[in-house]
Amino acid sequence: GTVLETVARRESPSMAHTITSDIGIALTRGRGCRVWDEEGREYLDLTAGSGVLALGHGHPRVTSAMREQLDTFVHGGWQYGCPARAELAERLAAALPWDDPVLLWCTTGSEAVEAALKVARAATGRRQVVGFLGGYHGKTAGALTVTGNAGFRAGVTEIPVAGLSLPYPTAQGHLPPGASLESGHDFGRGILEHPDFGAADVAGLIVETVQGAGGMQAAAPGLLRELRDFTSRNGMLLIVDEIFTGFGRTGAMFGFEHENVVPDLVVLGKALGGGLPLSLVAGPRELLQAVPPLRQTSTFSANPVACAAGNVVLDVLRDERLPQRTAVLGDLLVREVDRLDIGAVRLATIGRGLMTGVRVEQAPTADRGAFTRSVIRRMRGLGVLALRGGADGAVVKWTPPLTISEEELLRSVAVLGEALAAEAA
Ligand code: PMP
Repeated sequence: GTVLETVARRESPSMAHTITSDIGIALTRGRGCRVWDEEGREYLDLTAGSGVLALGHGHPRVTSAMREQLDTFVHGGWQYGCPARAELAERLAAALPWDDPVLLWCTTGSEAVEAALKVARAATGRRQVVGFLGGYHGKTAGALTVTGNAGFRAGVTEIPVAGLSLPYPTAQGHLPPGASLESGHDFGRGILEHPDFGAADVAGLIVETVQGAGGMQAAAPGLLRELRDFTSRNGMLLIVDEIFTGFGRTGAMFGFEHENVVPDLVVLGKALGGGLPLSLVAGPRELLQAVPPLRQTSTFSANPVACAAGNVVLDVLRDERLPQRTAVLGDLLVREVDRLDIGAVRLATIGRGLMTGVRVEQAPTADRGAFTRSVIRRMRGLGVLALRGGADGAVVKWTPPLTISEEELLRSVAVLGEALAAEAA
């Protein structure tokens, strides 16, 4: 259509190719789990804007809180107190697992990861923070050192630290070579036997309880407890990046709650701001205060409008019991996908809650990634927006708003089935 071409034409000359995509849809309106493009075409949105819109697009309680704050006060800066931030701080402190938590407010997920790396180094006096293969923590210079995808580091910057990634044992048993859940020692072998540094150089490990950008891989049961042991025994911090998994998405308020583990640091972002940038690092006072005063500030941190939205996001999560509901819907999604029967295609579901991936294990063509890309294109033609993930690009990702209706969820699976059948025909 002409309008679609116009948006693409207007944007493409100035758009850095580091962020362009080949999807080509301009979204102009959203409500609940539906979005509309510039030509008025309606889609069911399985992406929720990279997992941000936990309550869906234009949730009336969120937009009215934003509007009220917008009409009152938009930006003051970190040098001044902020009522919306104060309220949000009290609520987050009550939801987090430490007696005396301190919150370091930031703006984006990557920025909060950067801050967490600084805290870990300052608190331990050690230099390295180590991530996991397939892990994603952002593309800023520091976050890249722990993002477990060497491809993202290639050709962009000289990384002054090792960039080591440990194997990430997954719930589905896709164990990378060398990984073992049998003992903490095996698990940490990459660190303990590293040629350039030893355990005494490692400030902490950073891990997602379900890898989001990595393709909806849930950690193997027990992994987090094992990491808790390993880090405690070796004087390292356990940093759990809950930017994607936090605020109900895995079927619990935070992913680490599934294993009853208390991390040293938790990084939060995405859903909290209700669609506006808002992130933070949280942890016990003695760790957070290791960074000297005023050494981690940011102009736009804890924006009042985002904080006002955050308070409502927490209200609605509680009032509508969304974490619990998400666990139920995640199970329903898996059951529905399991019932699909598409001749030459074999599927597996991975992930947890509404952070679920449908992996094309076997396709009629050799290139499963290309097959999956075509399936996603067909789904879009049938009115469902999904994104692709996984190392081989063969995972269709379900990260819809947690408010998605059962009927919408079932329809999304039916559309997947239809797209698979058409593509396999
Ligand atoms: N950590 C995780 C687990 C993420 O999913 C993301 C974003 N996909 C980030 C960090 C980076 O956040 P941002 O894009 O807001 O900088």
